[in-house]
Amino acid sequence: MNMVHKPIPPLVLPSDQDASGRTLGDEEITLVAEAIRSGTLTCTKGKFTREFETRFATLIGIGHAHACSSGSAAIHAAIAAIDPEPGDEIITSGITDMGALTPILYQGAIPVFADVDARTGNLTAASIAERLSPKTKAIIVTHLFGNPCDMTAIGELARSRDIPVIEDCAQAFFAQHRNQAIGSFGTLGCFSLQQGKHITTGEGGIVVSNDAALARRVYLFNNKAWGYGDPSPDHYFLALNYRMSELQGACALGQLPKLEDVVQKRVESAQKLTASLQGIPGVETPFVASTDKHVFWKYCLNIDQAIITGGAVGMGKVLKEVGIASAPRYIQKPAFRCEVIAKQRTFGKSRWPFTLARPEAIDYDAAKFPGTFTYLERVLVLPWNERYTEEHLDFLASAIRGAALRLAEGNGA
Ligand SMILES: *Cc1c(COP(=O)(O)O)cnc(C)c1O
Repeated sequence: MNMVHKPIPPLVLPSDQDASGRTLGDEEITLVAEAIRSGTLTCTKGKFTREFETRFATLIGIGHAHACSSGSAAIHAAIAAIDPEPGDEIITSGITDMGALTPILYQGAIPVFADVDARTGNLTAASIAERLSPKTKAIIVTHLFGNPCDMTAIGELARSRDIPVIEDCAQAFFAQHRNQAIGSFGTLGCFSLQQGKHITTGEGGIVVSNDAALARRVYLFNNKAWGYGDPSPDHYFLALNYRMSELQGACALGQLPKLEDVVQKRVESAQKLTASLQGIPGVETPFVASTDKHVFWKYCLNIDQAIITGGAVGMGKVLKEVGIASAPRYIQKPAFRCEVIAKQRTFGKSRWPFTLARPEAIDYDAAKFPGTFTYLERVLVLPWNERYTEEHLDFLASAIRGAALRLAEGNGA
């Protein structure tokens, strides 16, 4: 047992916040330089963003793709395409990025939170079914950390009620369910190209769909609803400028051919780490359904605080001592406990659109969310990267094993 107390020499892991962990290079530089030399930096006139959209649609195996300025903008455009009435309800998860939630409020709809599976943090068909109401206008599912939701069950439920599904794939590029690309199951799929995602343009997003009419509305929403190319164009409805620039489009075009390899490396490394973490009391490796391909935006452990003193937070502290910056709890609290939602801080003092909500729709009593609170209490998020070597993986594995055994001592494990 003394072996586990042997100091582990710190190792600096590649980071997705700088060149050490970003797969950016000459391909992007050449394309961005070409965009700049062309003098055309708007996608309404240039070719790069359009080319990125076409190629991305092909890779996902879907009919239409429209790029935009961020993942949040992508979600906003998808909701705007569905066009809820004020006070309509959109069922979603309390464990997601705030950028997937505020667009619901901007479109005058009410986010109705469903509970999640305590193992994966993902919504399930059963948890969504509990929150359906006659006012449900859409469902937004986040494939958390790149681990797919059960799109077979969720798709069946949604079709039976004729409710559109928006897939938030910001963390799930090239993830699969039953050998089909995540993003192609829902009515609309949304991706982010923010700095820390699988591929990046700094900021950026893209919406995909097989529904031509909805895809057209996404395009219009990102373009102030101006009907470019129409016989008598007008600003057809309330909309914004959420366009991706040609600089981002050129960068995205450079990133795209690298995506498959980025995903493959992340998956292979994750499988290796999972194999070397088996049998550690109190430490659960990621649960992935046998039908699914998880693409590991991050690598998450579930920590049992009955065995590990201090639980995920305790593990995080010990890992920090050897320079591993993990994130216990992912987000510190469910989204419905954040001020914007809990205190209804929206437009002036109006609290709109919460003023339109059914009381049950905005009841955030913890008893309704056992999976959500359990998941957040147990999860320890490890940074993940396609540049991890065997050395990095060994370092992570021994640091995690060492921390877990140290914190389990005296707990009868
Ligand atoms: C990153 C992210 C978003 C928002 O994307 P931005 O590009 O940061 O606006 C939305 N949903 C999820 C799940 C994300 O991870």
